[in-house]
Amino acid sequence: MAGQQRSTAELIEIESRLGAHNYHPLDVVLTRGEGVWVWDVDGKRYLDCLAAYSAVNQGHCHPVIRKALSDQADRLTLTSRAFRNDQLPLFYEEICALTRSHKVLPMNSGAEAVETAIKAVRKWGYEEKGVVDNAAEIIVCENGFHGRTITIVGFSTDPGARAGFGPFAPGFRCVPYGDAMALEAAITPNTVACLIEPIQGEAGVIIPPDGYLRSVREICSRHEIMLILDEIQTGLGRTGKLFAEEHEGVEADVTLVGKALSGGFYPMSAVLSNTEVLGVLKPGNHGSTFGGNPLACAIARAALRVLIEEGMIENARVQGEYILESLRSLRHPGIKEVRGRGLMLAIELHPSGKGARAYSEALMRAGVLCKETHKHTLRLAPPLVINRAEVDWLLQTISDAFEAVPA
Ligand SMILES: *Cc1c(COP(=O)(O)O)cnc(C)c1O
Repeated sequence: MAGQQRSTAELIEIESRLGAHNYHPLDVVLTRGEGVWVWDVDGKRYLDCLAAYSAVNQGHCHPVIRKALSDQADRLTLTSRAFRNDQLPLFYEEICALTRSHKVLPMNSGAEAVETAIKAVRKWGYEEKGVVDNAAEIIVCENGFHGRTITIVGFSTDPGARAGFGPFAPGFRCVPYGDAMALEAAITPNTVACLIEPIQGEAGVIIPPDGYLRSVREICSRHEIMLILDEIQTGLGRTGKLFAEEHEGVEADVTLVGKALSGGFYPMSAVLSNTEVLGVLKPGNHGSTFGGNPLACAIARAALRVLIEEGMIENARVQGEYILESLRSLRHPGIKEVRGRGLMLAIELHPSGKGARAYSEALMRAGVLCKETHKHTLRLAPPLVINRAEVDWLLQTISDAFEAVPA
């Protein structure tokens, strides 16, 4: 009711009573955001080091994206793809030019982009490669994360994500991440694609050995199978390049983007393809009521433009290197390893220690929001607009908060 302020405790109680408990959030109730900062309902300010799992790379409530949203919302929001709209072609033109892609298919969530790619490469396999009907196989990696649909959790190796949700779709082979020889050994005449994260995000920022993506690229080309890189988290500047594949100088056949594609304003994802893969789809084969709507397209156009024009990708590289170096010089008995690329960073804690939750709670009290992944990994991934003064404040706060947690 208007005028009736609910307290933090009340809001948490309502959420807990009425909502499914499929998340274990920190007990902070946010109400406002700007740039790298967010505020809770009591007015306390925090530096957001999760950035909505890299969906707000451009910073909270970026004014240029917000204006694109409100201007477009005043004109036209949804037509369905039964008709054309004047934003979709411009979005296609701009994202293709930026990413040197030939074809685009817009969807909404990241998981939908993954599902779309799976459908497209299977059809490509049957029609272009001559794979036997219903026998297509896709190679995926252990500890990967690609979303939450039944198909996707069916090839997950995380028991929490898959247990109790079967039966699952067949057609996936799982190999160890970072091992190109294991990947090649899993190829059969029915293999149509491999689906890989350039850096495993949800697994805890796992960076594969140097040369891994180059080897995988070469293997895929030699066996005529499609390389699908899931850049939903690593893409759009997070690692200090537009795409993480650029660190190894490779190009995927199919690239998946989502999250920061809309700067946190609206769910939008896309399949980008530089080959004939998306060409196999004909009218009626695939679709989405909201996919490619004019509001999403106008927002994505602005989100991509500010990423480039405001130098966010270069900033991610520079600030990321500085944070990595500074965190590595931090002496604390709880820290086992610090790793990262660009602003996709992780602090690995000793498994004998307190566990990451104790640290993320200490950091929250100190004014830094980040989330543990698994028991012993703290991920740091602030918006790409973070400046040096904010980085220095963050480093000092981390150092102080760690001191307050006995190892
Ligand atoms: C977040 C994520 C997804 C799923 O995106 P949703 O929008 O949550 O469906 C897929 N792949 C990777 C690598 C991700 O980080």
